[in-house]
Formats: sequence, C-alpha cells, structure tokens
Amino acid sequence: MKMNKIRSAEIICVGTELLLGQIINTNAAWLARELSLLGIYSYYQTVVGDNAERLTNMLETATGRSDLIILTGGLGPTQDDLTMATVAAFAGRPMLLHQESQQAIAARFQLMHQRRVPSNNWKQAMMPEGALVLPNNNGTAPGAMLTIASSNNGTVTLVMLPGPPSEMQPMFNESVRPQLVKCTTTRLKHCFVRMIGIGESAAESRLLDLISSQTNPTVAPYAAEGEVMFRVTQSLDRDEEMDKTAEVIGEIQKRLGDYIYEIGTRSLPEVVKDLLEEQDSTVSLAESCTGGMISAALTDIPGASTIFTGCVVAYDKQIKVQQLHVPETVIQEHGEVSEACARAMATGCRDVFNTTYSLAVTGLAGPTGGSDEKPVGLIWLAVAGPQEVATRQLQLSGSRSRIRRVSVLQALDFLRRQILK
Ligand code: ATP
Ligand code: MG
Repeated sequence: MKMNKIRSAEIICVGTELLLGQIINTNAAWLARELSLLGIYSYYQTVVGDNAERLTNMLETATGRSDLIILTGGLGPTQDDLTMATVAAFAGRPMLLHQESQQAIAARFQLMHQRRVPSNNWKQAMMPEGALVLPNNNGTAPGAMLTIASSNNGTVTLVMLPGPPSEMQPMFNESVRPQLVKCTTTRLKHCFVRMIGIGESAAESRLLDLISSQTNPTVAPYAAEGEVMFRVTQSLDRDEEMDKTAEVIGEIQKRLGDYIYEIGTRSLPEVVKDLLEEQDSTVSLAESCTGGMISAALTDIPGASTIFTGCVVAYDKQIKVQQLHVPETVIQEHGEVSEACARAMATGCRDVFNTTYSLAVTGLAGPTGGSDEKPVGLIWLAVAGPQEVATRQLQLSGSRSRIRRVSVLQALDFLRRQILK
C-alpha cells in the first residue's frame, strides 16, 4: 500500500528498561529532531514496556491520530522482543520468512566466526507480509516499514527500528529518510544563535517583538544551562533554497551582538578552540573549584592537542603554592578565593606551561563553607595573556554541580573575550 502525504508523526519506544529508568530514551530525542528537520510534526512520544497487550493498545491509539508511527526496540532474538510480531498481529498480517534477511543473518554470524546461528536469531528474519524490509548493516535485526489502512479512511505507516542507537540511526538515515522525503512537501531549516553573559528573560525581552510577530522564519528560545540560545527556524518548500533566516539573525545580532559567541552549531569550547587555533595560540589551565572540568571540556574536542597543553588541578593550598608558585603571602592576606590568588595562579601557570594564555579558576562551589564576606558561588577568574592579566568576579547560585558547570562556561567565555581583545 502506498504511503500518503505525512502530516503528523509519533514515536513509540518499546522497552521495560526504559520504563524502569535503567536507560535514557535517547532514541526519542534523536528521532524527534530528525523528523522536525524533515518538516514532519511529531505530536506524541510514548514509552511502553515489553508487553504485547499494552503495545497493541498503544498502536490502536496511535494509528487513530497519526500518519506515521516510528517504533524502536524489541526487535532482538529473545522472548521479550515482541515488537514485530505484535505489529503484524495488529495489522492482521501473517509473519513470513524473509529469505534475504535469513541469508544476511547467516552471513553476519559467519563474519563473527560463529558457525552456527543460535536458533533464536531466525526469528529476526520473520517479517509482516507486505512490509518493506530495512537491512541492518550494524546488527542482526532487520527493520521494517508497513503501510496499512487507518481507521479514518487514510493510511498509516508503521516503521519498526532496532533499539540500539548504533543500529537505529544508520537504518533511519539509509532506509527510512529517503522514503519520508518523498511524502513531505516542506522541510525545516534551523539556525542557532548562542549567547552567554545575559539572562534568558533579559534576552527574551529584547527580542519579544521578533518572537511574537515572526511567522516564517520563527524565533524561539531554546533551553540551555548557563547560556541563552535562540532557534531561528525557516520552513521551506521541498525544492526552495532561499534563505530567509539571515535578516532575522542580523536583527538579533544588532540587539544582542555583545553576548553572541556562535551563530551555528559549535559549542563554546569548540569556539574557543577554533579561536586559539586561528591565532596560533595555546592555553593551559589552573583549576581549583572546577577540578579539571574545563580541561575535560576542551579535550573533548578532537584535535585539542594543537591548542591545549595541560592543567594543574590546584585544589589544595599547597599545590597552588608549590606547583603554580602562588606566593604564600597572597594566600595569607587574601585567601584562596580572591582576585589576587586567581591572578597569581594564572601568571604562575603561564610560566610553568609556557603557553600564550593561562586560565585560572578559584571559587566556592558549596554547599557549605561560605561566609558573609565570601558566600557560596563566589568565583574568581583570571586570564594571563601576552599583554596583561585580566580578572573577573562571578557570583553564581544553585547547587554545587550547577555552580561548577556554569563556572566552566563563564571561564571559557572570559578566555574567549580576552583572545578577541
Ligand atoms: P537487541 O537485538 O539488542 O535486543 P532490540 O531491538 O531488541 O535490540 P531492545 O532489546 O529494546 O532493542 O534494546 C536493546 C538496547 O538498545 C538497550 O539495552 C539499550 O542499550 C538500547 N536502547 C533501546 N531502546 C533505546 C532508546 N529508546 N533509547 C536509547 N537506547 C535504547
Ligand atoms: Mg532486545
């Protein structure tokens, strides 16, 4: 049966592990994003356990309201993997042996040097009659796509994908996306404007007229911790190329340019890494309250070795003194959480590591240990560069982990601003 135009989709993730909170449902998030980029609206996401009756009930509901239903999980060889058989029973289609899949399964086991295929695995070659079988190049379970008549006189397409993201994502990209593109007339183009140093509501209030009046492209705030992000989305007809986002982005830049660190998809550590690279510069770190988190964020990026040399986690006073040559008198007079100490840490670190820049962070992450003079959340940042040492004070709020995560972003942004000077 031919697929009709797709207007609305929903996602059903099958797995008791998901219901018990043992694994995080990254499949739903990934699929939802891909659907939105294809211009397909998805209105519901459901998680259901490995239970045929409850899955059947869910199919009943979903087929009554959506044109496209994407299911993930439960395609494995074991007893509790029952997605394919349940969908077939729901659709009133017998399960037939699919010979190509049977051969692919045999070939896969041979590749793994297992001569005999466990008898359970043959179950994975059983497909609902009339389904389009989706080959799995990264595992044994093939997926399937099945279009059936819906209760409201149209059609509904069911897509069954494996649970492991390493199998599900390539299968979607290789076999499902090309089918879906044929059934949509629009697609969405997203652009992200990322900023730091301004609160979400302050930023939003400066863009309120754009957010409420724009229809295409639309401007919407996007939740992110420690930074502010706006998503500019343009809906394009299938073959249309015209970019309408530039004008809106230009307007956002005019109003909030000072806070914007990226128009695109790069994260703050990536932006900092690229900036250092462009300037043939290097950075080292002296981290106290962040305990190496900034170094971790930088080394997360492939190729970080061109710009990052190393880090001292100077948590204890003695390490600040011995490894970073912070004068003991500075600590006696000002304390470890002070502008003077941050400054001395950055300067000492730059000498020890011989880098273009050194970034130092010292602060009180809490929850205990604060005082009236130095409350929890007080953070001092310092950047020692070729010309000068710059410092900045932050007063953050929230839990210990939030204070540390936001410190990482603020410190990287402070470094970025010093590099741009
Ligand atoms: P298998 O052949 O491995 O049994 P399957 O298609 O039967 O695959 P499940 O048994 O439901 O899928 O899940 C297998 C694994 O895939 C899970 O242990 C988990 O690691 C991952 N997984 C399943 N569903 C999701 C999901 N919604 N989000 C992220 N990971 C998932
Ligand atoms: Mg399984």
